[in-house]
Amino acid sequence: MGPRPGSHTRPLRVAIVGAGPAGFFTAEALLKQPGLTCSIDLFNRLPTPYGLVREGVAPDHASIKKVTAKFDGVAEMPSVRYFGNVDFGRDVTRADLKARYDQIVYAVGAQSDRQLGIPGEDLAGSHPATIFVGWYNGHPDHADLDFDLSGERAIVVGNGNVAVDVARILVSSPDALARTDIADRALEALRGSRVREVLMLGRRGPAQAKFTSAELKELGKLEGVDVIVDREDLDLDPDSQAALEGDRVAGRNLEILSEFAEREPAAHRRLVLRFLTSPVKILGGDGRVERARLERNRLVPGPDGGLRSEGTGRVEEIAAGLVLRSVGYRGVPVADVPFDAAGGVIPNRAGRVTAEPGGPVLPGEYAVGWIKRGPTGIIGTNKPDAVETVRAMVEDLEAGPEREASGDGGGSIEELLAGRGVAFVTWEDWKKLDEEERRRGRAQGRPRVKITNVDEMLELIGR
Ligand code: NAP
Repeated sequence: MGPRPGSHTRPLRVAIVGAGPAGFFTAEALLKQPGLTCSIDLFNRLPTPYGLVREGVAPDHASIKKVTAKFDGVAEMPSVRYFGNVDFGRDVTRADLKARYDQIVYAVGAQSDRQLGIPGEDLAGSHPATIFVGWYNGHPDHADLDFDLSGERAIVVGNGNVAVDVARILVSSPDALARTDIADRALEALRGSRVREVLMLGRRGPAQAKFTSAELKELGKLEGVDVIVDREDLDLDPDSQAALEGDRVAGRNLEILSEFAEREPAAHRRLVLRFLTSPVKILGGDGRVERARLERNRLVPGPDGGLRSEGTGRVEEIAAGLVLRSVGYRGVPVADVPFDAAGGVIPNRAGRVTAEPGGPVLPGEYAVGWIKRGPTGIIGTNKPDAVETVRAMVEDLEAGPEREASGDGGGSIEELLAGRGVAFVTWEDWKKLDEEERRRGRAQGRPRVKITNVDEMLELIGR
């Protein structure tokens, strides 16, 4: 029997799957545990780290990306190693990690999108907003896509911050975007865009919108863009009015929307915010989006005590060349790991993975971030979330029997990956890519020019 894991002589071996905010905040929280010595390996599917900070945060929101400096500090700790370009389930399995680590943390995020469930949503020209986001952010899975921006109107369905992001990018001046790290291909396409109006649809009213006030306010400052709100949409029903009392964000949003409703339109491009409206059918010719049928909704009491939308039967058709469905991300199953399909999460209790929802805990396996709690909250929300998961990890370690930890078998992970021909990317490799992207950016007065192709990345670092 050897020493208990977590000591200087026998560090706690932790594998974190996913190097986005949740993964980095978990590593940070582990490193801060008094009296605990760990060695942490961070695995990431893409060669590049930071998850949605790199592939999700909009290019014109550079200040939000500053959190990567903190993540760099974590990755550069001597007890942390980075293995990018490693696909969990294909290149490395749950069994491989269980044999080599004492604890595994799944921090894989929510990698798919929710659907509307209406006819025509799979027509060409109708896309999940998540893919559009990946495209303009140079996500290697989506960077080579083409979005047809030849129509005058685009519809964005949803009232969250992602809907606000995609609507803003569609109407922003390409010259302003050219100063950001937006993917080159997207910038070029947006320069040729003929979209003059973006119609953003909320199925419920303005008091139920999920976007936050700073993001809403920013829409009103876009150069050359009118934000159009119908005053009548802001006349609240008594229940919504009552709900405003306890909701500071919704109250502030209403103030901002009222200010928008007072404005005289004057600009070249329009961003129209409409509420209580749902698409019920997307129509097209030759398999391509041409129009959408929209239905006016009313609010009715929902089963959870809140207000839900219900169609009134009043419909209209409106021409559009592009429909982006921005109705939320969705978690997908992780290979060999239990999955709660209804919630789109790994079933867990405060971060401890369970065999099924409400079932027994699987020792040594944990979840954090969106795959733990669902796709809500901002980047910073993952910090307390990670602290909770790490608390469970430490408690389990302390409560565990005095025994040889499970993670002593199986040999070195580098040998395993190399033996399987996996071209894994180290932190030093990433720093080379980072420097190359910044170098290309400096030449153009931009923070960086993103490399969006995995083969090019591997070639640049000599793999
Ligand atoms: P979200 O905030 O959950 O918003 C989803 C929106 O989709 C809601 O307005 C929802 O309306 C609507 N929706 C759902 N099903 C629908 C349907 N069938 N028909 C019409 N509308 C439907 O999700 P998100 O925008 O994907 O954002 C995910 C998380 O990332 C959020 O926590 C967000 O704040 C965060 N984020 C933050 C920033 C930032 O801080 N700048 C940027 C991007 C994302 P209901 O309310 O009626 O369900």
